[in-house]
Amino acid sequence: MPLNRSGGRFVYLCDAMPRRQTKRGEERTPLTGSYDVIVCGASFAGLAVARQLAGSGARVLVLDRYEIGERQTSACGIPTDWLRAMGLERSARQEFGELVVHTPYGISRYELPWTFSTFDYRELCRLLWAQCDGEFETAKVDGRSGETIHTDRGDVSAPLIVDALGWRRILASDGGYQPPDAPLSRGLEVHPDGGSDDLEIWIDRRYVPAGYGWRFPARDEQRIGVGSFDPRFHVKDTTVLLADDLERPPVRYQGNWIPHKLRDGTENRIFFVGDSAGQCLPLTAEGIRTAFYFGIKLGDELRAVIEGRHDREAALRNYAEFVDAHERKFRWMLRAQRLLPRLPARIQRAVIRACGRKRFIDWSFGHYLRIAPPEAAGPPPKPVSEQEAVPAAA
Ligand SMILES: Cc1cc2nc3c(=O)[nH]c(=O)nc-3n(C[C@H](O)[C@H](O)[C@H](O)COP(=O)(O)OP(=O)(O)OC[C@H]3O[C@@H](n4cnc5c(N)ncnc54)[C@H](O)[C@@H]3O)c2cc1C
Repeated sequence: MPLNRSGGRFVYLCDAMPRRQTKRGEERTPLTGSYDVIVCGASFAGLAVARQLAGSGARVLVLDRYEIGERQTSACGIPTDWLRAMGLERSARQEFGELVVHTPYGISRYELPWTFSTFDYRELCRLLWAQCDGEFETAKVDGRSGETIHTDRGDVSAPLIVDALGWRRILASDGGYQPPDAPLSRGLEVHPDGGSDDLEIWIDRRYVPAGYGWRFPARDEQRIGVGSFDPRFHVKDTTVLLADDLERPPVRYQGNWIPHKLRDGTENRIFFVGDSAGQCLPLTAEGIRTAFYFGIKLGDELRAVIEGRHDREAALRNYAEFVDAHERKFRWMLRAQRLLPRLPARIQRAVIRACGRKRFIDWSFGHYLRIAPPEAAGPPPKPVSEQEAVPAAA
């Protein structure tokens, strides 16, 4: 499979690669100007922040190196109630009331107390952006000096700056994370065509010594992948192996590093949200609803600054405290992530079986959902006309 370097990471080329929509060459006019808020990163976290600022009157600039929704960043599975709470139901592709867990010693079926849905990334981003009224520009963010963001198209500035750029935490003073030494997991998946009924995971050392494999069906495609909690374990071969075992071709690759340790929500007057703040949950690697959850809180804090209800220092303090208040829950999940793979396979299987009791599932999944509950989405902000807000490339 030929490889192409794109945006700092390798992408596997195949005939079904998504068409590049990002502006190139002469279309990339110089970028300049002052804004009230600059949101760097237009995926789950960045768009959630921008959404909370809609109708506030703030001049908001959202930057990403790709067009909105152009480059899928996950298997796109989320508790269905989060899609509803955010007004994003139209992006849903398939809903599951059961989780199927495969181990070398058998299969367990967990009846979930709430449903989980897969969605279409492009459609979800389009719907989310339709709830925003900021400006969007494609530009690669290179760094920052004070209140100025340096991009490959020029400099822009704002007193309120958000890093929603993913695990690299590009605007951090320490130059961000470097794998494989940083607390990162790695995940890779393929997206073959074809339907399937079950939401499935594999806890099996054949695929990964510490981590899990998955198959998330999304109506007419499947997202089959492997995630390793150990960043040194390469998941390419076993992703292909799992796809082979499921008799699906390993096509349309998508993969990235996944942070598994919560980081500070603020640093040097910059706000960090989503993967850049390590807000992806350890053990499950669920980072979409937490990106929404923390993004909404951050957007509300920034809105309070815009509306004169408090100043930037108070917003920095409040948001940092909010993030810190979740540290204990993230730490417990990280402990479970470290412990589970160390158990002998038969004990793992016994634990998985014991956890399958209905009362335990309802209790544990209820607690798990409440780490970032959908009620936190609150009432949707003032709607913005889809016609006006949908980016040209969507
Ligand atoms: C294979 C895989 C499968 C996963 N599946 C799931 C799942 O099913 N459910 C779930 O909840 N979580 C899943 N996750 C985790 C989830 O994808 C992340 O936690 C989530 O994407 C974090 O959202 P974010 O907005 O913080 O960052 P991202 O989604 O990574 O978005 C970062 C954005 O910043 C942009 N960007 C990065 N660098 C620059 C730059 N220099 N200049 C300009 N723009 C830049 C990117 O283009 C991107 O749009 C998965 C992760 C992987 C790797």
